[in-house]
Amino acid sequence: MTRLALIAHDEKKPDLIEFARAHESQLAEYDLIGTGTTGGRLMEETDLEVERMESGPLGGDLMIGAEVAQDRLDGIIFLRDPLTAQPHEPDISALLRICDVHDTALATNLASATYLLEGLEDELP
Ligand code: PGA
Repeated sequence: MTRLALIAHDEKKPDLIEFARAHESQLAEYDLIGTGTTGGRLMEETDLEVERMESGPLGGDLMIGAEVAQDRLDGIIFLRDPLTAQPHEPDISALLRICDVHDTALATNLASATYLLEGLEDELP
């Protein structure tokens, strides 16, 4: 089953929720994981089931990075806030790095997230 991670910084959570609503039928087919707050909000505000990791600042990004290292993930949508310093920036950099090491698809804005979902859809049998 396709396994996809969803993460958004606080300023971007409304955008991710709107995006998830717009693609809800496709996302419902996937095994979804997310950082703690993002995953919780997605479950409250959509009908999607999301396996919640720790919150990002408490290690959630690293937990998702560990799945990338095990080649368990088909993609990550990570809506980052480029304008606000994040206390866990080293963890975020580690997640981006491990995606490049494992050639795991990573979308960091809505335009690339749309392409990522289109690409995953094309892979369905
Ligand atoms: P959160 O973490 O979903 O728990 O807010 C996201 C992040 O900041 O990496």
